[in-house]
Amino acid sequence: MQKLQGIAVSPGVAIGEALVMDNEGFRIPRRFVARDAVVDEVERLDKAVAAAAAEIAHHRETVSAELGEKYGAIFEAHLQMLQDSRLRSELEEMIRQRHYSPEYAVSRTLRRYAQVFQRLESSYLAERASDIFDIEKRLLRHLLGRRREGIAHLTSAVLVLAHNLTPSETANLDRRYVRGFVTEIGGPGSHTAIVAEALEIPAVVGTGPFLTEVSGGDQVIIDGDKGLVILQPDEETLAKYRHEAEEIRTLAARLEPLRDLPAETRDGVRVQLLGNIEFPYEVDHCVDRGADGVGLYRTEFLYLGAEAEPTEEVHYQAYTRVVQAMGDKPVVIRTFDMGADKMPNMSHFDDERNPCLGLRSIRLALRNLPIFRTQLRAVLRASATGNVQIMFPLVSTMLELRQAKMVLADVMEDLEERHIEFNRKVPVGMMVETPASVMMIDRFVEEVDFLSIGTNDLIQYTLAVDRSNKDVVGLYNPADPAVLRLISMAIRAAIGKNVPINMCGQMSGSPLYTMLLLGLGLRRFSATPSAIPEVKNVCRKVTIAECEAVAARAMTMENARDVRSFLKEEAKKRVQEIVE
Ligand code: PEP
Ligand code: MG
Repeated sequence: MQKLQGIAVSPGVAIGEALVMDNEGFRIPRRFVARDAVVDEVERLDKAVAAAAAEIAHHRETVSAELGEKYGAIFEAHLQMLQDSRLRSELEEMIRQRHYSPEYAVSRTLRRYAQVFQRLESSYLAERASDIFDIEKRLLRHLLGRRREGIAHLTSAVLVLAHNLTPSETANLDRRYVRGFVTEIGGPGSHTAIVAEALEIPAVVGTGPFLTEVSGGDQVIIDGDKGLVILQPDEETLAKYRHEAEEIRTLAARLEPLRDLPAETRDGVRVQLLGNIEFPYEVDHCVDRGADGVGLYRTEFLYLGAEAEPTEEVHYQAYTRVVQAMGDKPVVIRTFDMGADKMPNMSHFDDERNPCLGLRSIRLALRNLPIFRTQLRAVLRASATGNVQIMFPLVSTMLELRQAKMVLADVMEDLEERHIEFNRKVPVGMMVETPASVMMIDRFVEEVDFLSIGTNDLIQYTLAVDRSNKDVVGLYNPADPAVLRLISMAIRAAIGKNVPINMCGQMSGSPLYTMLLLGLGLRRFSATPSAIPEVKNVCRKVTIAECEAVAARAMTMENARDVRSFLKEEAKKRVQEIVE
C-alpha cells in the first residue's frame, strides 16, 4: 500500500481499478492472462521484442547515415537495454510464474527501472528515465498492435490516472465508466478541476510523479475530500473507505429534502442559489438540486475539443436546451472565455508564453469578431425563448466593456433588420475577476445590468499565483485578506447602485465561506450544482446579523490562515457536516 498526497479538487470517495494513461494518452493494459495461455504469451513477448529491436536498429542506421554516428548511438543504447538478458528473463518470469500479461509485465518492469533512474541525484542519469519510457512505449505498441486503445471505448468502471488531463480531455471522459481521476500535475483552480466537479466524480490533482509505481488493473482509492490517493490499499484501509463512501451517500440523502425548500436565512432573508454549468446536460443537475437558475454557463466548452468552430445552430441548440429546462428562471450565458488553460484545437489560436496574462477571454473575442458575433447571434436568438442574460468574461477596462457592448448592439441591429426575434432588453453584465475591475467598480456599475465575481481568477490575479500550478497551491487562497477586501469593495459598490451582484467562482460553493459572504452583503451565489445543498443548508441555519458579525471580525484579520480557522469554527457551531 502506498499513500500520495495531492490537491483535493472534487469531493467524494472512489474505489476501483486503475486505468493508467501513458504520455501519449494510451492506456496501459490489464494485468493477468489465463494459465494455459502462458506459452503463447511468452511467444508474443518475444515477437514484440524482436520487432521493436528491428525498428530501433533501423533508426540507428538511418540516423547515423543522416546525422552522424554520435546520434545513432542513442538508438544503440536503446537496443542494448531492450536486448539485455536480465530484462528478458525478468519479463518471462512474470508471465510464467505470476501469470501477468506481457503488457503488464513490460510496463511494470520498465516503470520500476525508470523510477530508479528518476531518483538519482545526477540530472543526466535521471533523464535516462525517458529513454526507458521510450522503450516501454515501443514495446507496448508492438504488443498491442491495433488493440492499442485510448480512453474511449471503456466497458467497465475505472479510475483514470494520468500525468495531465486537459479540460477538454476531462470533458470527454466517459461518465458511465470513469469513477474518478488523478493527475500528477494541475492546481486547485484549473478548469480540469472544475470539469471534475461537473462530472460529479472524485478527483485529485498535483500529486507529483507516481505513474511509474502503478499499472493498469491495480486497485486504487481516491479520496477527493482530503486529496489522498492510495495505491494497492490493504483490507483495513479498504474497509474504512467503504464505510466513508457510505457516509457520504447518507449525507447527500440527508440534504436531499432541502431541494424544495427555499434558501432562506433564519431571519427570513431570501438568498438565490444558482448553478454553474459547462455542458447543457448539467442543467438537469441544477434542476435536481433545486437551483434558482444558471448563474454561469461556461460556453467555451462548446469550442474545446471541437475540430471546427461551432456553428450558430450548434450554439443555439445548446442554449435553448438549457433555457427551456430552466423555465422562467434566469440563465446567465457567459460569452466564450478561451485562452490560458482552455485552448481549442482550432488552428488560429497560437501558443503563448504567458497565457494567463495573454490573449484570453474578452480580449480574444474582441480580436476575433466573426467568432464573437456568431456566438452573440445565437445567444440573442435564445433570449427570445426564456430568461437569458449575457455576461462578458475578464473585463478589465471600461474600453473593453464598451467595445463588447458595441459589438452586441451591432449584432442586435443585424437581427432586427432580418426580423429575427430576440429580447431587446436582454440584461448585460460582466465578470469581476481582476483587481483592475474592482478598482474601477464605481464606473462599471454605471454601465452594466449585473455583476458576477469570478474568484478563481480574482485570486490568481490579486495574489499573483497561477491557479493551475501545484507548486504555489499554498498561496492560492480565497481567505486571503487582500482577496476579501476586493470582494467586499465590489459587493458594496453594487449594493450602493442597486446593481445585482453574484459570485460564481469556486469560493461561492464552499460552505466554509457562506457566512462571510452573506455578512458582506452577497445574496446571490452560483456554484457547481452538487455544492448547492450544502450552501443552502448553511443559509437556513444562520441569521444575517450573525453573518455580519462574522464578516466584520474576519475583515480585521491579517492572514488567510487565521481567517480560515475562524470561519471553520463559526460554521461548525451551526453546521456539523462542514468538512474543510
Ligand atoms: C472565475 O474565474 O472565478 C470564473 C468563474 O471563471 P472561470 O473559472 O471559468 O475562469
Ligand atoms: Mg475566470
